[in-house]
Amino acid sequence: MQVSKSHKLANVCYDIRGPVLRHAKRLEEEGHRILKLNIGNPAPFGFEAPEEILQDVILNLSTAQGYSDSKGLFSARKAVMHYTQTKNIPNVSIEDIYLGNGVSELIVMAMQALLNNGDEVLIPAPDYPLWTAAVSLSGGKAVHYLCDEQADWYPDIDDIRSKITPNTRAIVVINPNNPTGAVYSRDMLEQLAQVARENDLIMFADEIYDKILYDGVEHDSVAAVAPDLFCLTFNGLSKSYRIAGFRSGWMIISGPKHKAQSYIEGLDILSSMRLCANVPAQHAIQTALGGYQSINDLILPGGRLLEQRDTAWELLNEIPGVSCTKPQGALYLFPKLDPKVYPIHNDEKMVLDLLLQEKILVVQGTAFNWPWPDHFRIVSLPRKDDLEMAIGRIGKFLKHYRQ
Ligand code: PLP
Repeated sequence: MQVSKSHKLANVCYDIRGPVLRHAKRLEEEGHRILKLNIGNPAPFGFEAPEEILQDVILNLSTAQGYSDSKGLFSARKAVMHYTQTKNIPNVSIEDIYLGNGVSELIVMAMQALLNNGDEVLIPAPDYPLWTAAVSLSGGKAVHYLCDEQADWYPDIDDIRSKITPNTRAIVVINPNNPTGAVYSRDMLEQLAQVARENDLIMFADEIYDKILYDGVEHDSVAAVAPDLFCLTFNGLSKSYRIAGFRSGWMIISGPKHKAQSYIEGLDILSSMRLCANVPAQHAIQTALGGYQSINDLILPGGRLLEQRDTAWELLNEIPGVSCTKPQGALYLFPKLDPKVYPIHNDEKMVLDLLLQEKILVVQGTAFNWPWPDHFRIVSLPRKDDLEMAIGRIGKFLKHYRQ
């Protein structure tokens, strides 16, 4: 008997953890040291969670043995409510907040509850590919709108408008963006909101990096800029609080909820079906949001994340034929390889060759639904020395690389 995967998975892929990673694991088993610049996982790079969060989770372990309410603990959701107030998102009640096992679970839930076969969702290119995968898994069609590298990776509003059809249901905005590091101005958010408004689209806002901002830029939530839109905002503890392994995130519904009663019922069904999110990790939310915001020490002048972003950005731009927009937020850089200098046809092969030759693991741009094989993503999490060594080796590799 041949056991096949379901047809539902035909167009579902998540290449950040794809075939190249399997090669990396094999090399590690053979005893090689691989420098992993592929995943935005802060803890292994020495970014530890604030002690008060860990202590709070430990203290609450004994009371966290049972299931919680499906949407989550009252205290944690109250803390998220307070957070929505600081972000100027109006009219959010405790019932509008869902806690999940990371933002990932909530993204899949939000798409499963919404989409019928053939429904279209506008998603940025490049994107964080879970969005595309979740739409495909739910029977929808991911339609990618371009972000423009020449314009600091801002969304191309004309491209968005040209891709709207009678089947378009929603638009996804990832801000700050993974993989480009773009942080959108209020004006850009207003333009995106206007497109949603004119076409009666739901707004999905992935704001998981909203506290990882450089050079004094500020973050606005699209739900605050356009409170008249039906909007789902996603955030969590994986990045700003460095506890990705705890799997703790939330989703906030805002705007004209009365128009979406049926969809909200769908969300409630799916939320009940998975019983609840990991309860010990829910206990971390109140302390995280209400406690000392240690992320600021990492992103302000003298902070490790800022210094590493600067080092990586400078060194990448020194490689001939490589150009990289300076990220304004998040944990990544998304450099371009000039196709005239590096005629690369298959960027997954390029990334694999880099791994095999230099033992450096990055992710090919096409894994982020970028349509051309001329980019890759690296994380800015490793210490300065490791970044210098890794980017040095990338430069050495590219010098002789031909496909
Ligand atoms: N959204 C974006 C833009 C991300 O980069 C990530 C993780 O890298 C996630 C969501 C998933 O986060 P979580 O750990 O909360 O599932």
